[in-house]
Order: sequence, then C-alpha cells, then structure tokens
Amino acid sequence: MKEFDYVIIGGGCAGLSLAYELDLHQKLSSKTLAIIEPRKEYLRDKTWSFWKVSPHNFEDCVRKNWKEFSIKKPSSSKVIRCDNFPYQSIDSGLFYNKIINKLNKNKNIEFFKNISDLNIKNSFIFNSVPSLRNTSSNLWQHFYGVEIETNEDFFDDGIVDLMDFNCDQRNSVHFFYVLPFAKNKAMIETTWLSKQDLSLKDYESQIKNYINSLGIKNYKINFKEEGAIPLFYPDNTGEKNKINIGTAGGMTRLSTGYTFLNIQDHSKFIRKNLSNIEKARKFELKIKYKFLDKIFLKVLERNPEKMPNIFYKIFNGYTDSTIKFLSNKSSIIEDILIILKMPKWIFLKSLFN
Ligand SMILES: Cc1cc2nc3c(=O)[nH]c(=O)nc-3n(C[C@H](O)[C@H](O)[C@H](O)COP(=O)(O)OP(=O)(O)OC[C@H]3O[C@@H](n4cnc5c(N)ncnc54)[C@H](O)[C@@H]3O)c2cc1C
Repeated sequence: MKEFDYVIIGGGCAGLSLAYELDLHQKLSSKTLAIIEPRKEYLRDKTWSFWKVSPHNFEDCVRKNWKEFSIKKPSSSKVIRCDNFPYQSIDSGLFYNKIINKLNKNKNIEFFKNISDLNIKNSFIFNSVPSLRNTSSNLWQHFYGVEIETNEDFFDDGIVDLMDFNCDQRNSVHFFYVLPFAKNKAMIETTWLSKQDLSLKDYESQIKNYINSLGIKNYKINFKEEGAIPLFYPDNTGEKNKINIGTAGGMTRLSTGYTFLNIQDHSKFIRKNLSNIEKARKFELKIKYKFLDKIFLKVLERNPEKMPNIFYKIFNGYTDSTIKFLSNKSSIIEDILIILKMPKWIFLKSLFN
C-alpha cells in the first residue's frame, strides 16, 4: 500500500483550501499528499459568502461583490454600507475547478476514495470530517435556497438582503436571505436558527410564499442549495500527528455560521508552521468570541422572539466594527461597542444561568 507524507481526509472546502495553499507555496515539491474524498465528481453545491475582512486565494471565484446590505424587520428596515469590507459570494463550482486543475498538475498529489487504500501509519493527517452529535438540544443554522431567474428585471443587484425577518417565526428564529447576482437573478434562502425540528422544514412552500410576497410571478429555478451548519463544536479531538480542519476543526463562528474565511486563515497558519506542525500551537478562534457566542446562543434559545430586534440593533452605528466583530477581527474597544448595543438584562441573565 502507498504511503504519503501528508493525508487530507475530506476534499471539501477546508481540505482543498489547505492543499491549494500548500501547493501554491511549493510545500509539496518534495513532499507527498493524498486527499481522501468519496464524492464521484465536483459540482457546484454551495455558495460561500462573507464580508471580505482579509485577503484569500479565491478572488477569481467570486461571483459578486456588494457594498451594501439590508436588515429588515416588521415595521422597519435599514441599508448599511460596507465599502471597506465588501460582502462577497464564492461559487463552489469555480472554486473546485480552479483547485482541482492546479492540484492535478502536481505529481506528488493523489486523490483516493477510501482511506483503507493507503498506509497512513507514518503520515501526518489533516481531518475535515466532523464527528457530530445530532442531539435534540443542539442548535443548527439550517436553510434551503433557490437561485431564480425572473423574466423581467426585478432585483436591486447592489444590495444583499442579509436578514429579512418579515416572515413566520414559529417560536423560533427565521429570516430570508437574498443574494441578487443580477437584476433578474438571485439566490433566495429561507434560514432557521433552531433545533433540527422537522416541522420547520417545509422549506419549498416557505420559499414559494416569500417569492410570491415579493410580487414575483414568472421565474425559473436554476440551482438549489440545502444545508445545515452546526452551531456547536464537533466532537473531533486532536491526536498525535493529526489536526482537525474546517467545521471539524472548530472553524465555524457559532453566532453566524461564517466559516469560509476562518478556513483560509487556518490553511495559511498550517502552511507557515508546516515544518514544525506537531509542535505548533493549536489554531483556534479567539476565546473571547467563543465565550460571547455561547452567551448569544443562550439568549437566542431563550428569547427567539427578541432576536429580530437584537440583530437589528447590532447594526446600529459603528457598522465596520460590527462586521469586524462578526468576522473575528475586532479590537477590545470594538467588542465593547458591540456589547453596549445589546439589551443588558437578558444577556446578564443568560450569563449567570
Ligand atoms: C450549504 C452550505 C452553505 C454554506 N454557506 C456558507 C457561507 O455562505 N459562508 C460561510 O462562511 N460558511 C458557509 N457554510 C459553512 C462552511 O463554510 C461550509 O460548510 C464549508 O464547506 C466547510 O468546509 P469543510 O471542509 O469543513 O466541510 P465540507 O466542505 O463539507 O468538506 C468535507 C468533505 O469531506 C468529505 N467526506 C465526508 N465523509 C467522508 C469520509 N468518511 N471520508 C473522507 N471524506 C469524507 C465530503 O464529501 C466533503 O467533500 C455553508 C455550509 C453549507 C452546508
């Protein structure tokens, strides 16, 4: 059986981002890498969006940049400019193509379907397969979206609707998310922050009703996306000669689900420390974000009806600081500014309970 210096388990976002980063910086010219990925072919399956707070390798896979986004709740709405940190959407189809084409040119990199095809005894492992307990007490960000094309121009393609709370909440937290790629093309997602409750999963009718409520009559669906992001950390533990990456490595920001840029930062960290990776410190999201997100999710669980107002308030003033906070790039002063915007009493109650 073949042996490799490095093995990446899972050739998804984190596995491929890491392989690309290593290949790009010539870390695989004298070392070998195996990527274990069971999927038969790489097709577009996700849309990764985020505020661009740091550079990444995939600018050429960005489908669109926006400099404005909106938050809507019953009775009010606001548009927020984000010139310094544009909101970007990456097309996973372009991302997979770009990386696979590059990796295929390196004879030191090979893809396998099963780990049992290799001898991994002496390899360093990067694992991106999360071990998740789907217990009834866990919160998820679960969603379903369709990319539609309308007959006539309908959307303002300069503004992302980040959260539209004008919808049925069902004692939970529910909003619609609209990414207008063109005046006649948009990704529309119904998003829930809740336990995995089957009664909330009539996604298709939620989407249909929402599109109707916007006044769109004639449209066709070009693409569908369904997913669930765990708002808790997976059980994967680090072992000797093994590092967890991606969702498995705790790269998801639990209050928002944003993971893509954290994966890129983690890949850079591994590349820089590769020669001494066994001894390098563990790369983690800062403890302050983990602590604040834990309280935030407790508040969310106990007070779902208050969340539209809370999300709305987070974007009251100092919006660059808010974006940096939500993207884990804020300073202490900026953290304090965000904390001061929150309703004190319910956050204190959740902190001490
Ligand atoms: C639909 C969807 C949309 C998202 N949108 C955003 C977004 O807009 N912005 C953002 O920041 N984050 C987003 N996320 C969160 C996060 O960025 C993604 O989940 C991202 O794909 C995580 O990367 P990953 O490598 O950890 O997992 P994945 O990309 O899921 O990769 C894991 C890989 O492991 C493979 N695999 C599974 N089982 C095995 C096995 N036994 N052995 C070997 N390989 C295996 C899978 O086939 C897969 O390719 C989204 C998540 C989902 C599900």
